[in-house]
Amino acid sequence: YSKSAELLERSKKVLAGGVSSEFRKYNHPHAIFYTHGKGSHLFDVDGNDYLDFTLSQGPLILGHSHPHVLKSVADYSEEGQLFAGQHIKEVELAETLNRLIPSAELMRFCLDGSEAVQTAFRVARAKTGKQKFLRFEGHYHGWLDNVAWGISTPSADALGSRENPNVFPWSAGLPEHSKDEFIILPWNDLDLVKKTLADHHHEIAAIITEPIMCNNGCIVPQEGFLQGLRDLCGQYGIALIFDEVITGFRMSIGGSQRYFGITPDMSIFAKAMGSGYPISAIVGKREWMSLIEDAKVIHAGTMNSSNPTIAAALATIEVLEKENPYERMFRLGNKLMDGLRKAAADHNHNLLVQGPGPMFNIGFTDLKSVKDYRDTLSYDRAKLGKFISAMHDERIRIIGRGLWYISAAHTEEDIDHAIEVSARVLGSI
Ligand code: PMP
Repeated sequence: YSKSAELLERSKKVLAGGVSSEFRKYNHPHAIFYTHGKGSHLFDVDGNDYLDFTLSQGPLILGHSHPHVLKSVADYSEEGQLFAGQHIKEVELAETLNRLIPSAELMRFCLDGSEAVQTAFRVARAKTGKQKFLRFEGHYHGWLDNVAWGISTPSADALGSRENPNVFPWSAGLPEHSKDEFIILPWNDLDLVKKTLADHHHEIAAIITEPIMCNNGCIVPQEGFLQGLRDLCGQYGIALIFDEVITGFRMSIGGSQRYFGITPDMSIFAKAMGSGYPISAIVGKREWMSLIEDAKVIHAGTMNSSNPTIAAALATIEVLEKENPYERMFRLGNKLMDGLRKAAADHNHNLLVQGPGPMFNIGFTDLKSVKDYRDTLSYDRAKLGKFISAMHDERIRIIGRGLWYISAAHTEEDIDHAIEVSARVLGSI
């Protein structure tokens, strides 16, 4: 990694921390500088070839450098970059999302997930006349001022103890007052949500949730939980917001709302939607989103719906619709999960592997009994660090907190290789 090491020294002089995106490099011993990506592989400046399960934190659902995406971006960019006005491709994309996503009656495009989340909050406040939001511990909704209080973190020690669950790291510089915007509850506890709403519904504008708790442990909702939230929001006239930044286009082409058959009032799509180009969508039912239409709620942004980003989203969705890789992504993900479970058992490791398949999380844990999902987050971080590092040395990249993403570009051989290498690594740590 000598060239990467040299580049890191250079970049640290001009980029804070040496990078622009991640705020920390969990468990990765080396900062790696990449030259290019192709399909399921990523290549670095030192000539190393990695099998990539990070997909650049999720967006690359078709793998790196999908030719149809790159060509569409190039072709549509030829016609101009940004019109800051109506253009036909934007309408085509909106019509496509309207056809595919159950809650997408009206929508607006933005640049990323964080910004779209804030737009949903604004709409919810404007419509209900209430100020607070109910959200869940361990969920991540971006890094902007308010939601960064109680930001999700990759381990139980940052989630806190059972007695003191909400520990807030990385809070320097956040406005103190925005801490009060939220009531934060444990995930998957419908009774607690019910009790809390009974006391606080008069001040709550919306419930926001990741439909699957992807940012900590990759935990699926308990039977009836999402439907329960749906019913409660309907009962109290507050917005149900699904943050589908990770699950959108990953659990199904219509997001996890189509997968689970629960329609929220508003939802956020980003990451996989644009195959790595900066585009997100806030979509929702007409009765909520029309507040933007009526110009009651401001939604702006000079760079929204630029030609390359619209082209990238249209091309990504075209490929997803044509190839329908979902059955395969679930199957490959589950095969890899089973392979990891077996390899861990063979080498006497207690490895907890959780998730639906297209994404999943691993953690070493001494799980004796599970009272609720929090118990499943008590990971041995040092051991996970060793595993991730050793995998990295074997040229397999996984997100440092133990998250794996499957893309449509991963092959059966990629999965077999990952299982074989994981077994070897688990035998050595
Ligand atoms: N919501 C969720 C569920 C996310 O995982 C993320 C990003 N990891 C965001 C929101 C923020 O999206 P972005 O990084 O595109 O601003």
